[in-house]
Amino acid sequence: MRTVRSVRELREMLAPERTKGRSIGLVPTMGAFHDGHLSLIRRARSECEVVVVSLFVNPRQFGPAEDLGSYPRDDARDLALAEAEGVDVLFAPPVDEVYPEGFDTTVTVGGLTSVLDGDPARRGPGHFAGVTTVVTKLFNMAAPDVAYFGQKDAQQALAVKKLVHDLDIPVRIQVCPIVRDPDGLALSSRNAYLDSEERRRALGLSRALQAAEETVASGTRDADAVIAAAQAELDKAGIVPEYLELRSASDLSEVDRVDGPTLLAVAARVGKARLIDNAVLRDNETSKEPNDMSSRPGANAPPAKRAAVTLSTLAEKRTLGEPIVMVTAYDYPSARVAESAEVDVALVGDSGAMTVLGYPSTVPVTLDELLTLAAAVRRGLSTPLLVGDMPFGSYEASNEEAIHNAQRFVKEAGCDAVKLERGGTSVERARAIIAAGIPVMGHVGLTPQTATTLGGYRSQGRTAERALSVAHDAMALQAAGCFAIVFEAIPSALTEAIMSRMRVPVVGIGAGPATDGQVLVFHDILGIHDGHAARFVKRYAGVRDEMIKGVAAFADDVRARRYPAPEHGYTMAPDEIERLHELLEEQTGEPFTGGFSL
Ligand code: AMP
Repeated sequence: MRTVRSVRELREMLAPERTKGRSIGLVPTMGAFHDGHLSLIRRARSECEVVVVSLFVNPRQFGPAEDLGSYPRDDARDLALAEAEGVDVLFAPPVDEVYPEGFDTTVTVGGLTSVLDGDPARRGPGHFAGVTTVVTKLFNMAAPDVAYFGQKDAQQALAVKKLVHDLDIPVRIQVCPIVRDPDGLALSSRNAYLDSEERRRALGLSRALQAAEETVASGTRDADAVIAAAQAELDKAGIVPEYLELRSASDLSEVDRVDGPTLLAVAARVGKARLIDNAVLRDNETSKEPNDMSSRPGANAPPAKRAAVTLSTLAEKRTLGEPIVMVTAYDYPSARVAESAEVDVALVGDSGAMTVLGYPSTVPVTLDELLTLAAAVRRGLSTPLLVGDMPFGSYEASNEEAIHNAQRFVKEAGCDAVKLERGGTSVERARAIIAAGIPVMGHVGLTPQTATTLGGYRSQGRTAERALSVAHDAMALQAAGCFAIVFEAIPSALTEAIMSRMRVPVVGIGAGPATDGQVLVFHDILGIHDGHAARFVKRYAGVRDEMIKGVAAFADDVRARRYPAPEHGYTMAPDEIERLHELLEEQTGEPFTGGFSL
């Protein structure tokens, strides 16, 4: 790791990396590292080839009455921690390097910086002006591909995203989840100010957020009621908040109900420390987002207990660093299982060709066969996003045919989106289907429909040239407008190299841990089929063995006449049986001799 103190040195270090096309990740911090900072650094390390951490206690974001003078600093410890995390460059400039004499420019983001912490009665908009000014400078100094921020400072993260959007700064902002101590306290450099009694009281903040989450989970939507539940926990801890407010999680506008992602933000002084914390609350009802093209939820599906997953839910999960869970499903019961397990995406995979239809590969399955499976899944699904897999031969020939067949998935089977395999001509097909109004998920790496040309079912992209071609496919599908991309059976290092260039959610299968989510085949997860499983499969149950045991026990019972027992039969009143015997005798002219009882 190199520690650099000047902008010139930083640029000199990064220029050759950029020329080599290596991705650069920046983690801006004010030092006094804790696991929250380290989580950002680790995320950057897993996604970018060059990791730069800036350590700068920015005077411009502190008000005159704030703790600039006493802000915790431990540069030696931070340096050792950064080194241990594999950071490449620690950029720790002195104040006059960032703000030389005569410096007189401020970058301000309007609107959302004047509420919560930005309210003039609190830290004020000047605080965020200080943040957005230094962040703009850091972006210009390091020119990162990705910059990492914590959801802990939710308002700051939103302000930075707005800054980047409004000023067209070419950097992706990755917001990472809040890291907490096991008892719930959000990690903060300012926790160092708390004595043990204050630390105990400070738990009131996370408890208040939890109480609000539970209130929403129990079906309450009204903002006042949710706030009251949180306030009660603060009261118990003797905490008087500076604010405790519910606001839209996307733009901090005021809300009076929890409909869609809603930020509950709290700030309070505990002893000498001014602490902030937040949670994104979600209503449990079926989402009212207009993304749905199909008649969701399935007509037979019982009412859902959580919001339906939409394309924007997936994008948001990526932004918040919350992993996306996807499984395949092929029929009503597997859909019900996916629903109850609260997965995010259900894919009616062409793997159904093998898992449920018994073909030797995915190639023979027809569109009509998959549509039957997809329609059954639709009937069992309420909340996961439903993606239909376009089978081999249903999209390759022309854009028109691809659009027509994608429309069948949406209109006949109620799918929300379709998936197709490969780069190359599939990129053009994806673009055409998207232009026709149907969301498309791409799929690169091992693409089973063309496994023969890839040399069989084996991992792809293991030489630099092949890896580059996988990366090109992924980026081309992203540029074509795919809402998400599946990476299958490629080396983890290749995934890491591509991730910093991806702006849409990536779901991996045998592609390592750096993706935004993971997908596995239902029958592989549960151990339902008996064939060979790929290296990336992890089995979570042995359902096939249980099924064999169950059916064999039934066979034994039938053969030993243990089944059915009296409790499995239906009864009939004795006088009705008597009359039945008489009627049978009358009609057949033969006396009844049997001994059956109905
Ligand atoms: P700071 O050094 O306090 O300016 O924080 C540097 C970065 O770390 C900011 O993006 C913070 O949001 C992030 N951060 C601080 N605390 C946490 C935490 N507990 N969990 C996740 N990220 C955090």
